[in-house]
Amino acid sequence: MESCDYVIIGAGSAGCVLANRLSADPGVTVHLLEAGGSDAHDLIRMPVAWMRASEKPEFSWGQVAGPEIHAGERLIPQTRGRLLGGSSSINGMMYIRGRPEDYDAWGLPGWRYADLLPYFRRSEDNWRGESRWHGSGGPMRVGRLAPDPDHYPALLAAAQALGYREIPDFSAAEAEGFGLPDFTTWSGQRVSTATAFLKPARQRRNLRIVTAAQATRVLLEGRRAAGVEYLQDGEKKTIRAIREVILCAGAFNSPQLLQISGIGPAKVLHAAGIPRLHELPGVGANLQDHPMILAAWQAREPRTFERHLRLDRLLLAAIRWKLFGTGPLAVQPMSIQGFLKSEPGLDRPDTQFQVIHVSYMARPWFPWLRPGAGHQISSGALLLNPESRGSVNAVSIDPRVAPSIHLNLLEKEADLWAMMRMFRFMRRFFATGPAAELVTGEVVPGPEVDGDAGIEAYIRAAAITGMHSSGTCAMGNDPMSVVDPELKVHGIDGLRVADASIMPRIVRGNTNAPAIMIAEKAADLILGKTPPPPVDTNGDPS
Ligand SMILES: Cc1cc2nc3c(=O)[nH]c(=O)nc-3n(C[C@H](O)[C@H](O)[C@H](O)COP(=O)(O)OP(=O)(O)OC[C@H]3O[C@@H](n4cnc5c(N)ncnc54)[C@H](O)[C@@H]3O)c2cc1C
Repeated sequence: MESCDYVIIGAGSAGCVLANRLSADPGVTVHLLEAGGSDAHDLIRMPVAWMRASEKPEFSWGQVAGPEIHAGERLIPQTRGRLLGGSSSINGMMYIRGRPEDYDAWGLPGWRYADLLPYFRRSEDNWRGESRWHGSGGPMRVGRLAPDPDHYPALLAAAQALGYREIPDFSAAEAEGFGLPDFTTWSGQRVSTATAFLKPARQRRNLRIVTAAQATRVLLEGRRAAGVEYLQDGEKKTIRAIREVILCAGAFNSPQLLQISGIGPAKVLHAAGIPRLHELPGVGANLQDHPMILAAWQAREPRTFERHLRLDRLLLAAIRWKLFGTGPLAVQPMSIQGFLKSEPGLDRPDTQFQVIHVSYMARPWFPWLRPGAGHQISSGALLLNPESRGSVNAVSIDPRVAPSIHLNLLEKEADLWAMMRMFRFMRRFFATGPAAELVTGEVVPGPEVDGDAGIEAYIRAAAITGMHSSGTCAMGNDPMSVVDPELKVHGIDGLRVADASIMPRIVRGNTNAPAIMIAEKAADLILGKTPPPPVDTNGDPS
């Protein structure tokens, strides 16, 4: 049987970071198992193509949640990357960390924001350069999105008319207001953890990256994780872990893999016919994501991204992007973003509001031959502090059978009320002077959707999620937690989880940067390094 010091399962946002950091010591051997394959594809590299990339079955697990009983009995797709870089290779590339108070509220030693900021900074090479809030010289380049002159000034003026200020940096002290987020893009290319962390480490002789290798079981010897069984080309193989096995398989697959390995809630294991080796009731519980509701307006002027989607122009833009990494395909058509409170009196923003100058249904078009979606300005609002909790449960011992995922979207009335307020805010925003002048009328859902009952029905019928699933192997010391604050699985030696699943409560923002930070910290914990000194985030916000 092959063996190595550390086996990492999953080369996603977290797994690539960990593979790089652990293998930096040439005296340590690391195996990185990834179920998917290569990320070498223009749809992955091209920033504007992320939605197309995320829809491609060869890059994704194709999992679905539901039926969602509080959301029209719908099945809701839950796209997750299945390739090198994992979801960081197909995501929307927004670089957002969540608020310091989110981490402080976890109440766990070593996980206050002051403790974590050094890890955010360590991973980063931010276009602003080094500061209290940002790192420079880290592996992951984080770029700036230039304001779109046809949309940003008017939308910012609308936000200001509603009393919000402009936010130059959503990772700094003040984040309630409107502005543009940073993106993990550089020179017109996506920056994933595969390109930022794995590529520079690939030649290391002590790191073995095994693709098309789906881990099927963590092998236990008594109460110790001794290795991993995996499937490659239909063949069952095993690898022995001399020191540790680390699960970085994401918020759906990490809990599924623990369950399939016999670690989880007795009832779930019994129902799936899985022999129980270690009862841990929280595995797969506590699933959280940001519920999201969309709307769209007809643009007054034909100046949206739609104009670049005419087939002949698209072809030229693709050549330009390929040759020089510039042009409309090199940037996101994001017009503005805001973090705001859906009602006064909240201590932090509960809403992330995004506007893009393109239709969610956009596709290449050509006059008389193929219709496009038309010039639209679209918006989405995400609920940042949902109260509803879902679950992920293995339904079979066969790892090729997808787990059952239930978001329990809108189960709690508080979530529904907040989303109704958010939806009304989107309408108020586009009825405000400068924003109203950009549009001629609402096309999704349309003005006929009105009144409490109408808006509730629309939200229940149309809400989706921000693709920020987390929480299913929650960190903590309570009976429902799965890992301790050192990310060790309770009751099992030599086994940790380090990915978005360990968040006890989802942070108020997108989850890629947090997953990367979790892996940065995990590397220090695993290698027994002294943590960097905390950075006090109170005071001077410069
Ligand atoms: C479409 C989309 C858009 C998003 N947009 C943004 C955004 O703009 N900004 C942002 O911050 N966040 C965004 N996110 C969320 C963010 O990308 C994820 O939260 C983050 O990537 C999760 O990291 P992770 O390491 O937990 O899991 P992942 O990155 O999903 O990695 C898990 C890896 O494990 C592999 N794996 C799973 N099971 C096995 C197994 N049994 N054996 C071997 N390998 C396995 C998977 O193939 C995958 O490579 C988006 C997500 C999606 C899907």
